[in-house]
Amino acid sequence: MKTNRRNFLQVLGAGTAGFGVASAVWLPDWTSGKNNVDASASTMAGGIPVKRNNQMWPIKSELKSRRIKFDSPQNQISWAFMKELREHNKTRKIYDIDPYVEVYQFRDNLYGLFQENCDGAGDFWMYLTIGPEKAMLIDTGFGLGDTKALVDQLTGNMPLIVVNTHDHYDHAYGNCRFEKVYCHEYLVPYIENQHANMWDYLFDDYGNNIWLEFDRKDLPAFKKYEIVGVPDGYTFNLGGDYEVELVFTGGHAAGHAGYLDRKGRIFFSGDNICSDVSGCGSVNSTRPGPYAENTALKVYRDNVKRLVDRMDEYDYIFPMHFMNNIENNLMPNIIEACDAILANPEDYDYKVEKYGKDRSAGPSARYFKFIKGFSVIGYGYRKA
Ligand SMILES: [Zn+2]
Repeated sequence: MKTNRRNFLQVLGAGTAGFGVASAVWLPDWTSGKNNVDASASTMAGGIPVKRNNQMWPIKSELKSRRIKFDSPQNQISWAFMKELREHNKTRKIYDIDPYVEVYQFRDNLYGLFQENCDGAGDFWMYLTIGPEKAMLIDTGFGLGDTKALVDQLTGNMPLIVVNTHDHYDHAYGNCRFEKVYCHEYLVPYIENQHANMWDYLFDDYGNNIWLEFDRKDLPAFKKYEIVGVPDGYTFNLGGDYEVELVFTGGHAAGHAGYLDRKGRIFFSGDNICSDVSGCGSVNSTRPGPYAENTALKVYRDNVKRLVDRMDEYDYIFPMHFMNNIENNLMPNIIEACDAILANPEDYDYKVEKYGKDRSAGPSARYFKFIKGFSVIGYGYRKA
């Protein structure tokens, strides 16, 4: 197959993790016989068979949810990892109490709760760490299915601390299944914005699911809950000397934080590190909202530096999308990529342009730089 390198990579790298990146919305032809995608598109990409239009084949699943469509294709590294895990991992289990979650056991005291994303972005992880006296749930997903009952079953009803890495739908809409949620203090005003209609966008005007087939009644009834904002470095005690520390990172969201399980020697990195696209903020245009200056790539870069300086405190990284259990030696490569972007934002590896609703405004671009041995950083950049 003859291919232009830049275009080819554009296709491979266009996946997302909780943020809308460009690429045409596609309709996979396994969902119904009438969806016609570009028949001229390739059926092989880098040796891996793909559906037409460069979409990967669906991964076998016994979940109650069923994928209708993604907004962008996943890259091959993410797809291959998830396929191997979901189809062959021996610890995978689906509990009757929550048929929307695949439960994986990664350590004696660490479970990964995998769920298909209710909107068109990448499927995601929640993590459950069990300490001597308390358990900690990191992120709550969309709230689809009875996450709380599942967690209680897994822990045997231990006291539970619930924390968020950031406010995006696929990480925090499940909060209202719980009484109290902790997060970085800059995230509080964002999470306070949650409301009873926040799930409406998952359905069209006729009430049909747009991206993922699931039963609407399996979403939680909205309720207000206690939100506790804590500063960088705040430590949660799970009993004895089992401590988990909130580490502020910024970048992907203004109040984005990771969680350092000092005892388990694991860093839960949220959405700043992702085997599809790591979305770590912008070079020179911050997003609207409180504490928006923390969505600058430079802020993220400086916080990664702090994590590189502490690499003797953790061995593995667990991101909230796709590939996990990644060795910590990835961290310096992330700094290297950030530094290269900051030194010359125009020296990107590829870019993706997309039109908004107003086509006359022209396309907006997102830029991508490779992280050595991993995936890419996607970044915003406004040319002078
Ligand atoms: Zn996110």
